[in-house]
Amino acid sequence: MVESQERLIKKELEFSAKNYKPLPVVLSRGKGVWLWDTDGNKYLDMMSAYSAVSHGHAHPELIKVLHQQSKLLGITSRAFYTNTLGPFLEKLIHISGLEVALPMNTGAEAVETAIKAARRWAYKTKKVEANKAEIIVVEGNFHGRTITIISFSTDIESKEDFGPYTPGFITIKYDSIDSLKEAITKNTAALLVEPIQGEAGIVIPDSNWLPEARKVCTENNVLLILDEIQSGLGRTGKMFAFEHSSIRPDGLILGKALGGGLLPISCFLSTKEVMQWFVPGSHGSTFGGFPLAAAIGKRSLELIEEEKLVENSKQQGSYLLEELKKIQSPIIKQIRGKGLWIGVEIDTKIINGRKMSERLLRKGILSKETHASIIRFAPPLIIKKKEIDWAVPIIKETLKEIEEEHIR
Ligand SMILES: *Cc1c(COP(=O)(O)O)cnc(C)c1O
Repeated sequence: MVESQERLIKKELEFSAKNYKPLPVVLSRGKGVWLWDTDGNKYLDMMSAYSAVSHGHAHPELIKVLHQQSKLLGITSRAFYTNTLGPFLEKLIHISGLEVALPMNTGAEAVETAIKAARRWAYKTKKVEANKAEIIVVEGNFHGRTITIISFSTDIESKEDFGPYTPGFITIKYDSIDSLKEAITKNTAALLVEPIQGEAGIVIPDSNWLPEARKVCTENNVLLILDEIQSGLGRTGKMFAFEHSSIRPDGLILGKALGGGLLPISCFLSTKEVMQWFVPGSHGSTFGGFPLAAAIGKRSLELIEEEKLVENSKQQGSYLLEELKKIQSPIIKQIRGKGLWIGVEIDTKIINGRKMSERLLRKGILSKETHASIIRFAPPLIIKKKEIDWAVPIIKETLKEIEEEHIR
């Protein structure tokens, strides 16, 4: 018997902890930029699993690698060398311009790895006094969900009643060089920051901020570690968001799209100077860099280049942004974005983000609000003009309908 969407939703609600509040649709299939529910209705994916699906769903080349590699070797652990890890990391190093990589699985694990790396470097290289290392983070950050990471979140929902929190983090204002300068002490190991804040609502700092922060970090012997789990690998119209300001980080955290929309694959990349302090036994992960993941990760990176996804993100991203900006609606307060990563800030006095996402869902567009007032549009980087031309009138029509209902 085919279970109805209603029954499947009920079942998920009954047996799952309620740490998410999904939109009311039961998806069962994906291909390219499209998703289908169990009744066969089709939706344009403008959410891409929080930007984890840059290659589109079920990319044939990645499916091929998944099949081939899974027949050969799935997992061995890092107790042995494998024939897929070296080539994967070589590709990552080549693309990122950094020197040494440490593969993990989820984004949060790669952030934890970056924190460990920064602290070891602080004690061993910078000679910070034992247990005194500080890492500077910014307001509105999102770096994941582990206890340490939520310890330095400024979002009450994600940290409330999860204490005691991990010490050693200093929070400064985003986009403020003065607060960075004030926060640095002799114990500062690193500045950990998203070059564009994703979950905060596609918040783009002043174009001088990152180059200035780079300078201040260098002058003070502080590592600049960029969390590009979401902004990286083409999402913003450059391979990495830091390329918009022609700087180089000392550490780079990748995840999400690295897994080709098939597997959780993440990585922390840094210099030899920083990474030398990871010695056998100091850190690890049973699954980190497993053969299947390494094969998928390598092919994901190759496909970003072969299919010119970065260029497409830039081109279609600015087209989508322009088209959205043409919409005249009292509901829209601001539209901002870079590449195929666009945030539409709406007037929550008229409609909140959740309701707006539900309305778009009913018209065949999947998006998701962040912080009640921002609708994010982040389709797979393979999206074509004709698909954008299909979506924009629907978004416009939805806004028009809301306007007519709410404003008279
Ligand atoms: C999604 C995200 C993370 C966390 O990744 P998970 O795979 O969910 O652990 C960390 N940092 C940024 C910037 C993200 O967008």
